Amino acid sequence: MPTCYETMDDAALARETERLQADVDALAAQGLTLDMARGKPSPAQVDLSRPVLDVLTSESSLTDDGVDAANYGAPDGLPSARRLMAEVLEVDPAHVIVAGSSSLNLMYDLVGHAFTRGVRGATPWSELGEVKFLCPAPGYDRHFAVTEHFGVTNVPVPMTETGPDMDLVERLVETDPTVKGIWCVPKYQNPTGVTFSDETVRRFAGLRPAAEDFRIYWDNAYVVHGLYDQDDELLNIFDVLAETGREDLVYEFASTSKVTFPGSGIACVAASPKDLDDIRLSSNIQRVCSDKITQLMHVRYFSGREAVVDHMALMAEVLRPKFELVEQKLTDGLAGLDVATWTNPRGGYFVSFDGPDGSAKRIVAMCREVGVTLTGAGATWPYGDDPRDSNIRIAPSYPTLEELGQALDVLVACTKLVAGQLAAEARA
Ligand code: PMP
Repeated sequence: MPTCYETMDDAALARETERLQADVDALAAQGLTLDMARGKPSPAQVDLSRPVLDVLTSESSLTDDGVDAANYGAPDGLPSARRLMAEVLEVDPAHVIVAGSSSLNLMYDLVGHAFTRGVRGATPWSELGEVKFLCPAPGYDRHFAVTEHFGVTNVPVPMTETGPDMDLVERLVETDPTVKGIWCVPKYQNPTGVTFSDETVRRFAGLRPAAEDFRIYWDNAYVVHGLYDQDDELLNIFDVLAETGREDLVYEFASTSKVTFPGSGIACVAASPKDLDDIRLSSNIQRVCSDKITQLMHVRYFSGREAVVDHMALMAEVLRPKFELVEQKLTDGLAGLDVATWTNPRGGYFVSFDGPDGSAKRIVAMCREVGVTLTGAGATWPYGDDPRDSNIRIAPSYPTLEELGQALDVLVACTKLVAGQLAAEARA
């Protein structure tokens, strides 16, 4: 579909780009400094979790189910913390290790485990010539960074409206033994907001990997992060695996980073009992145990899944108007021009935006000149290499509504100008 600028005659296009340039210049003159780059909760959201800090005092009992949270021990995490995270993920608490404050850290550690020790006795990846990971794209840049850091070859797989392109995933996973993993954010995916369909989840659970040490890195980072009463439903992949008795296929991750305090919450990994035993071979070497005081604070505050869901409903009150403003501003500014498409997620932290081919780097650079920092163009693709140079990740959570509105005005104006410029350059 040609953009509206491509269909204009030369004179009309010249007039229009001049007008669009004037719009951008006027915005630049406002001297804005706005940041829409990273998916951080706003201070108003984080403040909602301050009462978590009040649940422990020097007088509090620090014992949880007979475990002393104030001393070494319980390397799999406090019993009630395992129960809480198991309830959140709807898995068996015995299949959950709660450790540390960062799920990304657990993912890094598991890739490290595969490299140094090997998955379930398989050859350590450090001894293999090539190791590949599939990277649904657009996707989460920090996932791709972990495997890139270890020297893994990151292979992009296109995202669709129902999840990754499963025909391609099946072909690559089932025929190539050097494919050892796939990064997935199955609910409210970062950045598209897509929740994987039941069929996608079933196809993941049905994979017959060529490599015995292949695992799905199922990062359920946005499991309780719906914006509306009607939450997206994600099929529980471990339930599907249980039907077929093939549960040694998935490592599932989650954390409270976007439930309570980013970087200071609790994180977990869920896996089959045999995979957990394997994980312990490394995790019990790297630490005696992890921070159980933070775990205790969380379980004293959240009595169970319902309490977490109620808390997230308060978060959604703050976040929902921002997502709705994104949808409204983009629709008002760009609908009908055929210059961009974008997602309208019902949860998570991001909106995925696509401008014309060859536009994203220019739009992001132009926005920066006008005073708006966006996530770097290309960040949503492995190696920062977006083959169409079209995708931009919008992170609406941190700015205030007013700042967000201004930032979106800038994004709209820059997208139109870049689309106009590209149309003009194509004729020159
Ligand atoms: N996974 C995804 C998909 C994320 O978007 C984020 C945060 N942006 C993380 C993991 C990081 O989580 P944590 O703080 O638990 O490391």
